Amino acid sequence: MKNLKIAIQKSGRLNEKSVQLLKNCGLDFENYKSSLITSVSNFNLEILFLRDDDIPGYVEEGIADLGIVGENVIDETESNVSYLQRLGFGKCTLKLAIPRDSKISDLKDLNGKSIATSYPVILKNFLEEYKIDADIQTISGSVEIAPGLGLSDAICDIVSTGGTLKSNGLKPFADVRKSEAILIAREGLEENEILMELLQRIQSVLRAKE
Ligand code: ATP
Ligand code: ZN
Repeated sequence: MKNLKIAIQKSGRLNEKSVQLLKNCGLDFENYKSSLITSVSNFNLEILFLRDDDIPGYVEEGIADLGIVGENVIDETESNVSYLQRLGFGKCTLKLAIPRDSKISDLKDLNGKSIATSYPVILKNFLEEYKIDADIQTISGSVEIAPGLGLSDAICDIVSTGGTLKSNGLKPFADVRKSEAILIAREGLEENEILMELLQRIQSVLRAKE
């Protein structure tokens, strides 16, 4: 049977737990971070190591059959992929945050304000849902410094502990979206036997953790 390919993050917050999950499923492979691809010796699977932002697109295009990525990244890229299983790690929340001394106290107060984010698509959808007309400033990193520099009135960014917000004089204001790592597949793969075997193993690893 033809091998399936699964894309996981090459390095970063999801890498280690993704590798560990696959190892806990009994898969035997070398975790070569310098190579983009590695084969599993005892299962019909190859592992691709990619930047997380590229994973939904690779899966949507069918270059990879499966992927492990944060729900936030899938939403931001608006990819058409099948959601198979939440994985219980990589938990975080995309939040709106404002300067500690800000007068903003209600979502409506964001009308006419500017918000810096690296998640413009998710933020735009959120603002539309609440009928708020704000100016979205897209920046790719260090979003927390934007208000202090006078670039924006608020930010929308991923928060797990809140420490970075606090040290930049910001406070959380509203939750936009919760996220965790999820197993995705290209559409049409659902009945594949290798996938069904892998999914069963993943689900029993998750159950054992409960
Ligand atoms: P890459 O180099 O692969 O593009 P990255 O810098 O975009 O990596 P990471 O910071 O490694 O991404 O985060 C990967 C994912 O981990 C996020 O998309 C999110 O789903 C999740 N995550 C969990 N906690 C946090 C956090 N505190 N900050 C950012 N992401 C988090
Ligand atoms: Zn990324």
